Amino acid sequence: MNDERRDTTELLAVRGSHVLDVESGELSDRNVVVIRDSQVLSVEATVPAGARLIDLGDSILMPGLIDAHTHILLHGNKGAEEARYQLMEEYPAHRIAHAVQAMRIALDNGFTTIRDLGSEGVGYADVALRDAVAEGVIEGPRMLVAGPALSSTGTYPVQRYRPDWTFPAGVQVVDGADACRRAVREQISYGADWIKVYTNSGAGRQLNADGYIDSPPNWTAEELSAIVSEAHSRGTKVAAHATSDIGLDMALAAGVDSIEHGYSIRPAAARLMAERGVYLSPTMLAADYVIEHRARERGPIWQAIRDVQARTLRNCLDAGVKIAFGTDVGGFPWTEFNQVEEMPFLERIGMSAIDILRSATTVAAELLGLAGEVGTLKPGASADIIAVNGDPRSNLTRLASIDFVMRAGQVVRSPRAY
Ligand SMILES: [Zn+2]
Repeated sequence: MNDERRDTTELLAVRGSHVLDVESGELSDRNVVVIRDSQVLSVEATVPAGARLIDLGDSILMPGLIDAHTHILLHGNKGAEEARYQLMEEYPAHRIAHAVQAMRIALDNGFTTIRDLGSEGVGYADVALRDAVAEGVIEGPRMLVAGPALSSTGTYPVQRYRPDWTFPAGVQVVDGADACRRAVREQISYGADWIKVYTNSGAGRQLNADGYIDSPPNWTAEELSAIVSEAHSRGTKVAAHATSDIGLDMALAAGVDSIEHGYSIRPAAARLMAERGVYLSPTMLAADYVIEHRARERGPIWQAIRDVQARTLRNCLDAGVKIAFGTDVGGFPWTEFNQVEEMPFLERIGMSAIDILRSATTVAAELLGLAGEVGTLKPGASADIIAVNGDPRSNLTRLASIDFVMRAGQVVRSPRAY
């Protein structure tokens, strides 16, 4: 693959009808993105002399998208049987082959950067795949990865197998503050970019009278604070899977950087998130996908999740919580839905199209610590470009039919050769 790569010192120009400036929300008449050495050099109104031109006609150019919550190493996880199969039966190499396919799909969908939150029992395969992309061995999005993720004894699949045997788990299981610190050190030493921690799980037993749910915490405050302080002291951010306020409050108190899923967030917790600048990745498409199955498998409370989540998202938007676009793809099969199908869910709860586009570009880039590097076409950014047939601001479903994707100056999807 390396031999076919183009000369990165040449000047390259990508021209559409307009460039969508996601920061201002406006279409710019400066419709030529000039690229050198994998980065945006400038955005111009004309093609510079000597530049090789990729002319995309009437298409609107915008930055490549960011999915802040993916699982390349899962191919469906709606219930216990899928988790069991992938953890206990499927060979790791087979799962990694699926992951390579998932990375291709992410690029084809226009996602040039992803934060992959947990390898679900395949150790540090995500680290290896991230590095293989960076080396040009395989094609894929730029990846920030979390390695095995962390949870406590008895809180994560697979469970309830013979107690006298040892079985694999979808996370690194640790208990006690010292073990938590050690696990964070270990994960960082093996190459994790993020620490992912499950602060509570499930949907609880019943819908409370106030319209929210509660489920028990996975950690003591001491354990969670050990995880976060250890990660932060090494410059590593922490993503907290939290499904209701108990896990969420403990995660906020410990100082995590993002809340994942957050099915049930009361107004007070939403205000605290906004105050502390903690991001939410709502993953509504994945929730919608698993609800029916989990209601049958784990109890009818799952039927209430759609309404609780809609309430929660309104609380978060009212409070001004920053929404980082995240789909939890892999929880649903990569081959079944395009990640951009998360967007109509966000529209339905009241986000504007441009805010949704920002959540999948500039806002997610801030969360990832990559502001200015990805999610923008400003000079110095990685030349990650998608071409949309029409204005995505008036119809987000246009993003589901893109056919041109560039990552770091390389054309990775196109109907024709350039
Ligand atoms: Zn997830």
